[in-house]
Amino acid sequence: MSGAAGPDGGAGGRWVELKPAVWETVVRACDCCGQVVPKRLWVVDIAGSERRFCGTECESLYRSYVLPRLAR
Ligand SMILES: [Zn+2]
Repeated sequence: MSGAAGPDGGAGGRWVELKPAVWETVVRACDCCGQVVPKRLWVVDIAGSERRFCGTECESLYRSYVLPRLAR
């Protein structure tokens, strides 16, 4: 085994449960696909800033397609 990948496949990310009091007043949208995340956010620190996704798939997409553009 190598690295710190968790059971969900993400490295360095964490699931954040949203309490109803929070997600009813603050809309949380995935930073990759823009989908509103109702209950649970996949939060990852990328390049020093916190990104929120609906799941690890969107983290992978973000790293593959969005980050390379931002890095130019
Ligand atoms: Zn997403």
